[in-house]
Amino acid sequence: MNALAALSANPVDVDLLIHPEWIIPIEPAGVTLSGHSLAVKDGLILGLLPNKEAAQRWRPGQTLDLPGQVLMPGLVNLHTHAAMSLLRGYADDLPLMRWLSERIWPAESRHAGPDFVRDGTLLACAEMLRGGITTFNDMYFFPGAVAAAAKRVGMRAVLGIIAIEFPTSYAADADDYLAKGLAIRDDFAGDPLLSFCLAPHAPYTVADKTFSKIATLAAQLELPIHVHVHETRHEIEDSLKQHGVRPIERLRRLGLIGPQLIAVHGVHLDPGEIDLLAHEGCHLAHCPTSNLKLGSGISPLSAIQSHGINFGFGTDGAASNNRLDMFQEMRHAALLAKGASQNPEALAAHATLAAATLGGARALGLDGRIGSLLPGKAADLCAVRLDEWLIQPCFDPASHLVYVAGREQVSHTWVAGKLVMSNGVPAQIGISELLDVAGLWHTHLTS
Ligand SMILES: [Zn+2]
Repeated sequence: MNALAALSANPVDVDLLIHPEWIIPIEPAGVTLSGHSLAVKDGLILGLLPNKEAAQRWRPGQTLDLPGQVLMPGLVNLHTHAAMSLLRGYADDLPLMRWLSERIWPAESRHAGPDFVRDGTLLACAEMLRGGITTFNDMYFFPGAVAAAAKRVGMRAVLGIIAIEFPTSYAADADDYLAKGLAIRDDFAGDPLLSFCLAPHAPYTVADKTFSKIATLAAQLELPIHVHVHETRHEIEDSLKQHGVRPIERLRRLGLIGPQLIAVHGVHLDPGEIDLLAHEGCHLAHCPTSNLKLGSGISPLSAIQSHGINFGFGTDGAASNNRLDMFQEMRHAALLAKGASQNPEALAAHATLAAATLGGARALGLDGRIGSLLPGKAADLCAVRLDEWLIQPCFDPASHLVYVAGREQVSHTWVAGKLVMSNGVPAQIGISELLDVAGLWHTHLTS
């Protein structure tokens, strides 16, 4: 009996067998497979095989043919404030500190209770699933309401245990923020789709004492630390005046610089700081669209890449982007890296796709579970149509995903093997409910 006959004698039951035109597994790097099928069983990727072998090896409960489409890991949004979808377009064309202090913080102090957070996050999750995003790393008040929304639509989320010094309707002071966040973490312990990170807001809103406490908690609980840092020149100048050092040096002295750190933005980094982040194994959440829109600048991504720093992409909140669209982030990141470094080889297409998936997963400590299509990982997937007339011809699917296609071409999204979006419609929430939620809060915010 030859090997294939032996295989066909004992087919394995699988839940779903997908036959796309191409598969980009991310691991191994730089590979595009054609004529392969991917099998899903119990929410996990069972394997990828050539079509003929797959048909002999696996007996599917359901099959899905996706001609003209590419299958890849779900995108990981490494930094967002999901609930701020309700503030999309509420304040534009202002620099960061005026945008925050004159528009965003006053609106949040009036409106950002648990209902706002739940409704805004529902809207955000639906938008993200529509665009092939399967995981988001969040930083916002009332993370329990964020968790409820993510669970409702079946999305994977990393919830930020936010800390900030000023009081809100959520918490009174930094210790209260941390205590409440840790209690919510206990409430959702063991949830297969939810995990947590510590989320001190920024060096200009968090005191030394709180940062030190967070460094200790991160070590004790093995949690990532997710913090905005070196977003604007203004932030660095203020730190020099107030603390005598730049924010990254301040965080280093307080024990936060290490492999658990996800530095969000890192727009203004000098060569010594890039060396430090590389040497200490820190991760970077690059948010190119938000940085452009707030006029913060352009992160030196080519140097970050050449130093071997792990990075992923974040949309930031919809109030400063104004889309939760990782296709937009991929394209902006790749184009800006090339333009700013005057090097067209910076951030090539496969490297861009890897950052948007595995890079984000690695920063969150989730790369053993998501971020690529290795057997045994969760079946967090998206399929993208590359056969539409508007984007023809297609010579290289990886190039097309980064430079041509948009989130509108995403046809299916799965989280842990469950279909959560198809044909442009989220599976767990109706479009009419999303429109009602957006309309209700538009009325509140304008009255
Ligand atoms: Zn942010």
